[in-house]
Amino acid sequence: MMSNFSDWQDRMLRAVWRHGERLPEEVLTWMAELYGERGEIPEAEFCDSWTARTFSMARSAFETVSKSVEQDIGKATTGDGFTYLTYVRDPEMGPVGEVHIKSAQVSTPDSADVLCAMAEGVQEFVMSHHRVTWPVCGEHNRGLHVDHVHETPVWTCTGGTPGGHVVRAIDPAVHL
Ligand SMILES: [Zn+2]
Repeated sequence: MMSNFSDWQDRMLRAVWRHGERLPEEVLTWMAELYGERGEIPEAEFCDSWTARTFSMARSAFETVSKSVEQDIGKATTGDGFTYLTYVRDPEMGPVGEVHIKSAQVSTPDSADVLCAMAEGVQEFVMSHHRVTWPVCGEHNRGLHVDHVHETPVWTCTGGTPGGHVVRAIDPAVHL
């Protein structure tokens, strides 16, 4: 049973061009669950599931960041006129789909990286569409940058001490 799972996992990671990569625990857990539910699904079906998972993470990250923008500056990032969040599946670019938001692209299986990419994309959108810098450090009055503290995606400011400082988590529900 376990060796069947490892073989299958190996084949599937090859199919999505992720073989030999150090993948986050959440991806391996998800694969184990998928195997438990649906058994040894073929490569094409796995690529579909992988793509669906990426899109679902991107949507949820997008909602998180959109809410944060609305809370901070009262500007909308969703609506019928906005078509900057796109899902692209191009066989020439690889076996699994990508999410594009402005110049940010997401094909990573890591939810923290997805949130970072969405934050950058929404930031770019707020600047180009609303002509507003978001988010801004209340202390130094300058635009913030996406970074990680351990595994947590955060906004950082280059002001103050050399090397700057961490302002807050990108997800407003996460407190550092
Ligand atoms: Zn600052």
